[in-house]
Amino acid sequence: MNCAVVKLRLLGLILWSLVMFIAPLGLAAQDYDLLIKGGHLIDPKNNIDGPMDVAVLDGKIASVSKNIEASTAETVVDATGKYITPGILDIHTHNFHGRGTYLADGFLSVQPDGFTFKAGVTTVVDVGSSGWRNFEQFKTQTIDKSKTRVLVFLNIVGTGMKGGSWEQDLNDMDARLTANTAKKFSDVVVGVKVAHYAGPEWDPVERGVEAGTLADIPVMIDFGGVIPELSLETLLMEKLRPGDILTHTFGHVKGRIPIVNEDGNLEPYVKQAQERGVIFDVGHGGGSFLFEQAIPAMEQGLQPNTISTDLHTGSMNGGMKDMSNVMSKFLNMGMNLQEVIAASTWKPAKVIKREDLGHLSEGAVADIAVFTVREGTFGFVDVRKNRTAGNKKLECELTVRDGKVVHDLNGISSQVWKK
Ligand SMILES: [Zn+2]
Repeated sequence: MNCAVVKLRLLGLILWSLVMFIAPLGLAAQDYDLLIKGGHLIDPKNNIDGPMDVAVLDGKIASVSKNIEASTAETVVDATGKYITPGILDIHTHNFHGRGTYLADGFLSVQPDGFTFKAGVTTVVDVGSSGWRNFEQFKTQTIDKSKTRVLVFLNIVGTGMKGGSWEQDLNDMDARLTANTAKKFSDVVVGVKVAHYAGPEWDPVERGVEAGTLADIPVMIDFGGVIPELSLETLLMEKLRPGDILTHTFGHVKGRIPIVNEDGNLEPYVKQAQERGVIFDVGHGGGSFLFEQAIPAMEQGLQPNTISTDLHTGSMNGGMKDMSNVMSKFLNMGMNLQEVIAASTWKPAKVIKREDLGHLSEGAVADIAVFTVREGTFGFVDVRKNRTAGNKKLECELTVRDGKVVHDLNGISSQVWKK
């Protein structure tokens, strides 16, 4: 045998060894970074409500299919008995945390990552903590540094939610400057917020809507605060455009007409407004969710379009707690799990015109939540410390943001420790 033939045979042997032994051990396991297997997928955008595996590669949803082979993924999560959903969107939060006052660069706003992932939330929308004057500070100190995706509704007040007289200054409510900032940062700014105004004028609402029209984004209204109250019917039927949002739907505070009147009847224009496209958002908060409003309203056919927390230090340490607790409340008040998930994923994504979010289509960003629906006896508390009992509670088991595990309650994505 000559030297060339020996070399060729040796090369053949090496190649054969690679194919036979090394590939099955290592290379095939690189198809996916993460596989969530054996769970029940609820993906309202794609009309999926059943057993389905979800595979992730490079931060994107790579495959959604009935039976994806476990050996194809580097990390496999067993989600048997659990629900897989798109990462939750909470479209009413306050995250402009800092050393300033109230909610604008203030101590009442909370840093996002500490309060989102544990509840399955991957996207928050800070509504109105900042205005056009201090948005860039918010972006630098919080938005750009957070793992949670932080989107923003700019306050119509230039200085945002600094509280007191700052938020009553009509001279600082400029539609054009607000819209200009929204357009300049359209990857982050998705709406305009009007809140806390305690005067008899409609100007803040009108300027908010004007800014929203100029930038082609929705407006969210935290309404009221003046006696006699401004007409809620006029707001919902005349001032707001379809797609604009009333938050604190189930609140009853001084200065705002409640949606359920003293006789326990849902005001008829509320359903009419929802039919014309006005969005009813929960915005639970520390003072804006009452069972005496929510239960009769839902019994009379009003479901919220979007479920949200109004997260800040005041609400999270009260009856609100976190997003999964607020979702659980609605699960126990008559919405089914599919409706609760839709109102916390795909519906809010559409409301903020970010249809790239809130679903697990192949190619979408891999923001995923895994929940257990616990059964037992649980207590739920509103903002006046009234308690109701429920028998179901959502517990967030696992949260994936941008393809990476960011919360894992029982370590189901970790390897088992061996001595
Ligand atoms: Zn709020």
